[in-house]
Amino acid sequence: MSDDPHDTAESAGPDGGAPTAGRTGRDDVVLEAVGLTKHFPLRGIRAKGAVHAVDGIDVALRSGQVVALVGESGSGKSTVARVLARLYPQTEGRILLHGEDVTAKRGRAFRRYARRVQMIFQDPFASLNPVHTVRYTLTRSLRIHQKGLRGQRLEDALRGLLERVQLNPDRFIDKFPHELSGGQRQRVAIARALAADPEVLLADEPISMLDVSIRIGILNLLQDLRDRLGIAILYITHDIASARYFADRTYVMYAGRPVETGDSESVTQTPAHPYTQLLVRSAPDPEQLVSAERTGGRGEPPNMVNPPEGCRFAPRCPFATDVCRTVTPPLLQIGRDRQVACWGYATQVPGALDLVPSTDDLPELGDAAVPVTVVDTAAASTTTTPEVTR
Ligand code: ADP
Ligand code: MG
Repeated sequence: MSDDPHDTAESAGPDGGAPTAGRTGRDDVVLEAVGLTKHFPLRGIRAKGAVHAVDGIDVALRSGQVVALVGESGSGKSTVARVLARLYPQTEGRILLHGEDVTAKRGRAFRRYARRVQMIFQDPFASLNPVHTVRYTLTRSLRIHQKGLRGQRLEDALRGLLERVQLNPDRFIDKFPHELSGGQRQRVAIARALAADPEVLLADEPISMLDVSIRIGILNLLQDLRDRLGIAILYITHDIASARYFADRTYVMYAGRPVETGDSESVTQTPAHPYTQLLVRSAPDPEQLVSAERTGGRGEPPNMVNPPEGCRFAPRCPFATDVCRTVTPPLLQIGRDRQVACWGYATQVPGALDLVPSTDDLPELGDAAVPVTVVDTAAASTTTTPEVTR
């Protein structure tokens, strides 16, 4: 990217030093969002304000790793993916590819970015053009990304792509989308993304429209791409059970905000945030990967138009106090690589009490709290200094 001056803006870190990815131990971060925020202004004569679809999310995608973004419908998951894919610009925050700010919106620089960061959509029926064969669809994608590919080399590349997604080329190459099952179509959509030889796949609920019986096959395929090609994968799902099965790290979102992050095993087995606990309790049998849309629990997701300060989950939370309703909890470090945005942990996290006006009225999670292991006293919290929270 560095050969194009429009491709990157200032790539220095916040302290004016090295780019973010240059910090020790972070070299495998391919794509990163810092403080990512997306508001959609309301339209209409009397409209005022905006839908706060995403409000300050940090996500780091590493090569050879799957990160799950979990949350119920409307929590802002697709918006995160679309902003990362640069289908529309963010309202605030930075997107970094290999530590360099991504600013390209069009032209060559944008196409280079789009090649590295590919998106897979929920609906494989809508994402493939019904009038074109598999051969046409994949050839087009190959030609866009690898100019001059023709003849036997093109044919070999086409067959290679189909084999990579475990479709027999002889059987499938001349098929039309209507001749394929949902799972086969999603495989073709994945093959089309792979034609770009991407470093990142943004998979937005890639299995939720598929028959239960074939979901696991698609997840296994994505896992195979992670392992064999080292692709960084963002796996978006409303089904926390599948995150446990499939993802290395899990980020839970509620109403546009991150509420909990950590390794998938901890987040799904010993969830710390009352919302994650609700999700895990209402999740279907993890062995089944069934994901009927469930919100479970008490109440409705909040109105995201000009939401008030405070924890957005507070209206549904059995533990909420006035602090929760008035002061937004940042992600607090409650263990190595484990964060939760809940005031219920504030007394145990160094520095956190400085952020609330009064300590009289903090929520008591009781048995619902998970044990806190303080790792680093400097890592008290805050979403504004992401490097200390990881
Ligand atoms: P999820 O994928 O988690 O279901 P989305 O990211 O699709 O959530 O949506 C988050 C919020 O942003 C919702 O309230 C949704 O209505 C709103 N939203 C999404 N896209 C747009 C858009 N293009 N214009 C206006 N509002 C939008
Ligand atoms: Mg969505």
